[in-house]
Amino acid sequence: MKFDEFGFEPPLLEGLEAMGFEKPTEVQEKSIPDILAGRDVMACAQTGTGKTAAFLLPIINDLVKTPAEGVNALIIVPTRELALQIDQQLEGFSYFTPVSAMAIYGGRGGREMEQEKRAIKEGAEILIATPGRLKSHMEMGYANLKTIKFLVLDEADRMLDMGFAPDIMQIVNKLPRERQTLLFSATMPDQIRKFARQILREPVEINQAISKPAENIMQAAYEVDDSGKVQLTRHLLEGKENLERVIIFAGSKQKVRELTRSLQQAGMKAKAVSSDLEQDEREERIRLFRSGNIPIIVATDVLSRGLDIKGIDLVINYDVPGDGEDYVHRIGRTARADASGIALTFINAKDRRRFQRIEELIETQIRRIPLPEELASFTPRKGGRGGGRSSSGRGGRQKGRGRSKGSSRRGSKGGRKK
Ligand code: AMP
Repeated sequence: MKFDEFGFEPPLLEGLEAMGFEKPTEVQEKSIPDILAGRDVMACAQTGTGKTAAFLLPIINDLVKTPAEGVNALIIVPTRELALQIDQQLEGFSYFTPVSAMAIYGGRGGREMEQEKRAIKEGAEILIATPGRLKSHMEMGYANLKTIKFLVLDEADRMLDMGFAPDIMQIVNKLPRERQTLLFSATMPDQIRKFARQILREPVEINQAISKPAENIMQAAYEVDDSGKVQLTRHLLEGKENLERVIIFAGSKQKVRELTRSLQQAGMKAKAVSSDLEQDEREERIRLFRSGNIPIIVATDVLSRGLDIKGIDLVINYDVPGDGEDYVHRIGRTARADASGIALTFINAKDRRRFQRIEELIETQIRRIPLPEELASFTPRKGGRGGGRSSSGRGGRQKGRGRSKGSSRRGSKGGRKK
């Protein structure tokens, strides 16, 4: 199938061509016709499937076809990173159109707040907002959202996890009832379905391979004590100049700091990205990573979802993620659209069971690679918890989804108004 078969307006097709998009992905092919037909859609799609374009393209198309005053579309997202990424994709797609947009997210100073306020008052056609920040604007009384035709809830499962459900309901209650609502979520547990029932009207359900990593990711794992993880990481990365972009996800900020320091001491160009950093600094590091100037990023799972960076060669799960969804999201950073990538997970004795559950969830047995000979002494004892010569009781604690609410709600700069 080709994009022009959707009947998109010429300036949108031009944008797609300029971005090098040739044919729709599965989720785009399945959801765009229903969205164009005006139906509410509830789609189960992970990051990396092309879900962003699946909702942006029909919205932009509508705005080109039937321009209307005021804010036309509201896209609610869990994090500022995701808001920025959606805004960037939108900028590409809408380049040849008059459509204007603004990303709205917290944690920034008065100047940005003013910019956002202006965009809302002047009616930027599309707002991409985190719930807390949008609510602040709404409370100040100038946000007229009565002109909204489209509401998108992106990464709905993540938003519920982060405790945004009450904020979202408050926002939704202020929107016109006559609107089209699209909900995208990486998983579709009952909780999301219940939530969706309150917001969507007779939605079409689109499913695509639930909770399974893309097939072009080579997955493998090492069983290793915590005390051997730094050496194993160095062993995997040292002298591998062909690896242009590597992301390592660790379970805590402390581990991120320690590992980054140790890689730097070994002469590698590694940088840490965690919620410890100021937003500007984080963005700068991500930008440098994107542009290839920093080859190795060590991050907490703040970055595991939504991060849209092409050409990641290797993802290392320094700790087993909290659950299967996190695993799928972390390794989903590699093998975007049609590139392939490698995902390696380090499993200590304590995390064996959890990793098995992940394997069950994704219905895949992940190959175990024996440790290299010089690191063989770090192999965890069979059946043991902790074990080996590690101090793993301490180091092995997994933070899982444990991103602090405060950090996830802080925001920063960005946004654009044509
Ligand atoms: P998403 O799942 O929306 O985060 O998109 C993942 C990546 O795939 C982004 O870099 C998109 O720009 C890219 N992408 C989305 N749709 C297509 C497509 N139809 N053709 C090529 N690349 C795409």
